[in-house]
Amino acid sequence: MTLLILYGNPYFVSLPPVFIRRYNAWMNNVKYVFVTGGVTSSLGKGIIAASLAKLLQAQKFRVTIQKFDPYINVDPGTLNPYEHGECFVTEDGAETDLDLGHYERFLNVNTSQANNVTTGRVYKSVIEKERKGEFLGKTVQVIPHITNEIKNRMMLLGNTGDYDIIITEIGGTVGDIESLPYIESVRQLVWELGKSKVVVIHLTLVPYLASSGELKTKPTQHSVKLLMESGLSADILVCRTDRPLGAEIRHKIALYGNVYPDDVIESLDVCTIYDVPLKMLEEGLDRQVLKKVGIDSENEVDLFHWKDFLYKIKNPKKKIRIGLVGKYVELTDSYKSILESFIHAGAKLHTQVDVEFIHSADINDSSVDSILEGLDAVLVAPGFGSRAINGKLIAVRYVRENSIPFLGICLGMQIAVIEYARNHHGILGADSTERNPNTDFPIIDLMTKQKKIFAKGGTMRLGSWDCTLSEDSLVAKSYGTTSIRERHRHRYEVNSQLVDQIFGENLQIVGVNPETDLAEVIEISNHPWFVGVQFHPEYKSTVSQPHPLFVSFIGAGIKHRERRNTHL
Ligand code: GLN
Repeated sequence: MTLLILYGNPYFVSLPPVFIRRYNAWMNNVKYVFVTGGVTSSLGKGIIAASLAKLLQAQKFRVTIQKFDPYINVDPGTLNPYEHGECFVTEDGAETDLDLGHYERFLNVNTSQANNVTTGRVYKSVIEKERKGEFLGKTVQVIPHITNEIKNRMMLLGNTGDYDIIITEIGGTVGDIESLPYIESVRQLVWELGKSKVVVIHLTLVPYLASSGELKTKPTQHSVKLLMESGLSADILVCRTDRPLGAEIRHKIALYGNVYPDDVIESLDVCTIYDVPLKMLEEGLDRQVLKKVGIDSENEVDLFHWKDFLYKIKNPKKKIRIGLVGKYVELTDSYKSILESFIHAGAKLHTQVDVEFIHSADINDSSVDSILEGLDAVLVAPGFGSRAINGKLIAVRYVRENSIPFLGICLGMQIAVIEYARNHHGILGADSTERNPNTDFPIIDLMTKQKKIFAKGGTMRLGSWDCTLSEDSLVAKSYGTTSIRERHRHRYEVNSQLVDQIFGENLQIVGVNPETDLAEVIEISNHPWFVGVQFHPEYKSTVSQPHPLFVSFIGAGIKHRERRNTHL
């Protein structure tokens, strides 16, 4: 049985899947753009996809982006941040690839579980169908069963009728064994839906060889050839380069890459990812894509706010230095959304935010002063496990006692609570059961519900939850409201049975979940700016809507710097 959408209503019918896919694409009149990558990873497919989406959105097209990742994890939730960087969390609680963060930040629209698919998820659902007997005794194979599942998922968002254009980024690099089913699925979709509905963009690298003083096109030629061996030809080649391509190189790439010269798009290295949409506009990426699917867009590309934002980040009036204390600082992608939130909030306040990455293992009683002194604000980052917690506790004590603005996110908030219990109240054994299951004062503990859960994947408190803020709190002033919704990703909570023993006078719970009464936000009232949040505000900051908490935090950093300067 297959899902058929007829005039917006879903029907389950027994028709060949190819018929259903053609019918859905025709009914919804959706165009599909695929972004593949060649030569090497880390060329920025996600940013190219997000930039194209931004340009199309600026012409009033309804557009979304999805990412298909070739790894076997069902989602990236169980991955160590050192593997692929931060795990981004959507409103509906999906743990996803960090590129979804870029999509949301560029487009200011929410993504969901459907926007990120992995090989693990594809196989899981095919195997579940097999166990239910849905394949009617057939041998279940990569082709057609896995590719059918992939194609259906590639078209899922298009079938909702909510979008004109769906951009799909294929993770990995062409030629990887694990990417093959995805490339084959795109090939089949081009055949099923026709060239007028599908565009294939291939992102490659054009390196400069210093010894010969030349840009080299051979890697691009090979990459295009590799794609063709899988039966897929690129319509547009986006060439990442550190210097302009020039007419001759463009011609060569077009000739050997089998595309028209106008379809060779130069993607020059730029100083901020937020420059890329403008570069792509100059190169005509959006125009070429629309041309291929027969759309003659007369709409103006309205990037007024985007340009204003860019102007502000490039022409700051002030500068501050924030310390980011974490244990994954060797790979700054682990904190991607936090770093981008600083940029958004900084732009709003015309301020350049320089980030000092501080490994929590480097902080001890004798080093703390020299490491944190001189910073305008400190953020203690989210994290898991017990490694390098002591450094975080010492950092929090330092900023609390020295009136340095502090924001603790998730684990950062939990650390702030433990620190206060230990050093202010003298409860030296206070701890989180994540780190010390035998603590006699488990001020951070698992919720009863979590105690019965043993599987790790997708079982945390995830996604968006309501929170009610106390009216006279600093956070309520920062948000300008007392009811907020923020995204979560954690198992441990402030232990409600022990809160009376440490909260009250100066340390206060100023945000609670209205249903469970769990502590979501804490503040210290006799400190200029000391806030801990159990949720992750960084997932909701976008270019057009910088997060109010980050804006307030950066604002506190600016004040702290001014205060310090007047005392010097
Ligand atoms: N490890 C902590 C928990 O699970 C904090 C998680 C986080 O910082 N995202 O509760």
